[in-house]
Amino acid sequence: MTASPIAPPAVLDALIVGAGPVGLAAGCALRAAGLDVIVADAGPAARALDDARVIALSAGSRDILRTLRAWPASGSTPIRRIHISQRGHFGRTELRNEDYGLDALGHVAQLGTLVRALRERAQALALDVRHDTAVGAARADGEVMRVPVGGTDVTARVVLWCEGRITDDEALSRTRDYGQHAVIALATPVRAHDSVAYERFTPDGPVALLPCGRDYAVVFTCASADSAALLAETDAQFAARLAAVLGERVQFSAIGPRSAWPLALRMRADIVRGHEAWLGNAAQTLHPVAGQGLNLALRDVAQLADCLLPALARHEGGIDSALQRYARLRRTDRAATGGFTDALVRLFGLGADDAALGALAGHARGAALALLDALPPARRFIGRRMMFGARAWP
Ligand SMILES: Cc1cc2nc3c(=O)[nH]c(=O)nc-3n(C[C@H](O)[C@H](O)[C@H](O)COP(=O)(O)OP(=O)(O)OC[C@H]3O[C@@H](n4cnc5c(N)ncnc54)[C@H](O)[C@@H]3O)c2cc1C
Repeated sequence: MTASPIAPPAVLDALIVGAGPVGLAAGCALRAAGLDVIVADAGPAARALDDARVIALSAGSRDILRTLRAWPASGSTPIRRIHISQRGHFGRTELRNEDYGLDALGHVAQLGTLVRALRERAQALALDVRHDTAVGAARADGEVMRVPVGGTDVTARVVLWCEGRITDDEALSRTRDYGQHAVIALATPVRAHDSVAYERFTPDGPVALLPCGRDYAVVFTCASADSAALLAETDAQFAARLAAVLGERVQFSAIGPRSAWPLALRMRADIVRGHEAWLGNAAQTLHPVAGQGLNLALRDVAQLADCLLPALARHEGGIDSALQRYARLRRTDRAATGGFTDALVRLFGLGADDAALGALAGHARGAALALLDALPPARRFIGRRMMFGARAWP
């Protein structure tokens, strides 16, 4: 989608910076309420469609995308079981859809498929989405923001930053470089996957297999220093590496192209300021273990729409207090989800450099997994928080 032929109104209700899944979802949510919105992205339109990331979407995310009428039903694959284990130690557990009374624990979709569904919805709503459009620094001017967009000054009542990264290091409250990369690829299993996902923890980081169409999406975490070597391996070498980690569980007949992604935790301290808010990866970038980043971001979008729409509809000010309320309501979910993913990476990485500590930690983790397996209520507790975030806190 390129620039709208219709000139935007003198004062937009919202300018959204970034047309990734989060910017588009926010744009659709506001536009569906009849607001005047521009979504401006610095990159070309084709880039997001080619994004190789494959996303595990929770049941809660599916609800949100369905409400937005942007659920890619035919482009998603259900997950009915998640098998969790650790390499080299005892202990395993399995999350099952029937334990939650759901048809699926979640669904898997390629990021490009999700973006395509959101763009189709945006088009149906006549949402103004612009690519190859640079956005400059925003300046507060009374009750509005003034922002250079593609060489023209735009005036908006609120600016939502969804540019997929936190550029200002001073704005961070938490940061951790895990020294890891995720090498990702689609791989065809020899036997049908039956909607079973795997999360296997290794001393170098977690390895996940997500059912995606008839393939598995592989997320193979490795030390950053090793990622170039993993990309350079032949398909047979990479398949052997997977077999070494996964054992007999899954074997592959073909491996698709690989790409590598650096992994870090970066949390923004303040996600609102005046008439500006930061959402998605522009608010927090998480390790992909347990697939939480976009799920958390979609909960951001749903909450933001709830808080902001009444204030934007009233035209009587109150936008800053609506955004403050949004930030307050997001505090628990952001902290819990960021903390959970960080704890998981560190817990399962404990002892990676020390054999004795590694053995001890491995036994402790094995006991925890075995306990979890033996305690359905504890399993349900964890599963519900992964699927619905803070909405599921008792
Ligand atoms: C390997 C891997 C696996 C993952 N798996 C999962 C998973 O299973 N489940 C899950 O929930 N999450 C997962 N995630 C996280 C998920 O990919 C992100 O949370 C999600 O893509 C964030 O979306 P976003 O729209 O905030 O950012 P992006 O998808 O990065 O989009 C940002 C957009 O902003 C544009 N932009 C950038 N800079 C500017 C600028 N200056 N001006 C204007 N536009 C700009 C870009 O062109 C882009 O279109 C994974 C991440 C990785 C790395």
